[in-house]
Amino acid sequence: MPGQSYDIIVIGAGFGGSSCAALLAQKGLTVLLLDKNARPGGKALTISKNGFTYTVWLVNSAPLQDNLLKKTLEELGVDDKVELVGTDNIITYFKNSQGVLTIGPDSSSSELDPNQIFDWLELSETERDEALRFFGDITLMPPETIETLNDISFGEWMSRYNITQNLKSFMSFLTDGCFLVPVERQCCAETIRTMQAIFLRGGNHFCKGGWGKAAEAFADAVEANNGSVMMKTRVDKIIVKDGSVTGVNAGGNIYNAPIVISNIGIQPTILKLIDNQYVEDSYLDDVKQLKPSWGFMGTRYFLNKRITDKSFGILFSPETAWTDEKFNKARAGEMPEDVPLWYEVPTNYDPNSSPEGKMIIMTGFISPSDPEMTQEEIDRWLAKGEEMILQIFPDLPKYIENREHYTPHDVSALTRDHVLAGQGGECIGLAQCIGQAGSSKPSFQSPIQGLFYVGCDAGGTGIGIHQAVDSGINVANAVYKQIRG
Ligand SMILES: Cc1cc2nc3c(=O)[nH]c(=O)nc-3n(C[C@H](O)[C@H](O)[C@H](O)COP(=O)(O)OP(=O)(O)OC[C@H]3O[C@@H](n4cnc5c(N)ncnc54)[C@H](O)[C@@H]3O)c2cc1C
Repeated sequence: MPGQSYDIIVIGAGFGGSSCAALLAQKGLTVLLLDKNARPGGKALTISKNGFTYTVWLVNSAPLQDNLLKKTLEELGVDDKVELVGTDNIITYFKNSQGVLTIGPDSSSSELDPNQIFDWLELSETERDEALRFFGDITLMPPETIETLNDISFGEWMSRYNITQNLKSFMSFLTDGCFLVPVERQCCAETIRTMQAIFLRGGNHFCKGGWGKAAEAFADAVEANNGSVMMKTRVDKIIVKDGSVTGVNAGGNIYNAPIVISNIGIQPTILKLIDNQYVEDSYLDDVKQLKPSWGFMGTRYFLNKRITDKSFGILFSPETAWTDEKFNKARAGEMPEDVPLWYEVPTNYDPNSSPEGKMIIMTGFISPSDPEMTQEEIDRWLAKGEEMILQIFPDLPKYIENREHYTPHDVSALTRDHVLAGQGGECIGLAQCIGQAGSSKPSFQSPIQGLFYVGCDAGGTGIGIHQAVDSGINVANAVYKQIRG
């Protein structure tokens, strides 16, 4: 209700905002959760259209075991509303040095011999010991050693091993796919911590009915704990008086609270919702310097025939690892011959996602985060993505009933406001790069009394939605401690 007072207002019902709001409401605080969209979920919301129900674009979560999202749903008593699926039904294509698409060994097999992976990646006998040392060091590195790697890049750390280009490219599709940052900038501690979690606790985690179902369950938990949720409500300003937050202004309506937690990204929060006079110039400069992750764009193909029985697929080659230099050339028009491609087929892990006999395949590939990409540039990137998926499914065009593209412009419109050049359509949030991740991650506490951040920009670690929930848990605990001592 306009004019009403709450203990806490959370702006944004992405995975960070909705989990944080639910946990605080469960602790007995009065919480108002606001979002500009019609449904919770932010960058992983659910869409239902023409008989298809799916996450708005490709979202594969990890880790599978000890998953914080699952634990939080259980803790809130709403896990019965969400059906999570872990699947081994995936396929990885490596376009080898002869240009032939070869399929990787079944990674779910308990009898998987690393030599099967090394054969597939064309490693000679003499190259295998070093490859084993490399993977062993990632998998077994103790946390205190990982902590010493905050200030070097994963690329630099990888260069300490004499491993082949094919292996580096294999590693890059894993890490680039998790962070949307090239290895030369990835914070090594963040990368190793996250890769270790995937190697030891699995990945390929999906949600029936789309990932948005989980954020919707978090929002239900807010209401079940006497909180309020207002969708289709855009916050225009965070109100500050005498250096402290007092509430928000949404479409002219004022909602009061001494604590506001923003899930909309640090840059839009500070550069758009807060008047400059309340923030020191040096903090404004720091915020402007923050770097977003790259974007992710792709196509949803709605097919009148089921053409694969796999739920998820990947295609990479020895040459597909992105670097900043290669990326800048691609932006300037010099697209590489191959780019790494991911695709998700909800039909195969969630039969209710598609009408009988039909199928949805969603592709995704790394792209600029810039919502102002020109149409010419967008067309060039989309054409490359289509070229890649046709290498796997040459007959795909025969079965397309409908095709929709998603671009950084769509990502920004649905999630994060565009407030700086090149920013807004980022896939994850702030880039998990040196200086912005691990021990250097921005604090979730802003310099304004009572203003906090939650979500992928601050407070968490790991991949995408899992990172956002990690932040939701950490920020809820810290804010509760501040309020209740
Ligand atoms: C194309 C794509 C593919 C991805 N693939 C994966 C994947 O495979 N695996 C994975 O783990 N992650 C993936 N991610 C990343 C993951 O979805 C995000 O990192 C995560 O969901 C971000 O959560 P968040 O809580 O930080 O915020 P967001 O999801 O950005 O939520 C922010 C919320 O704030 C709301 N908001 C913004 N401004 C306002 C305002 N002024 N007033 C009110 N509300 C506002 C928005 O509507 C939104 O709901 C993908 C993302 C994209 C875009």
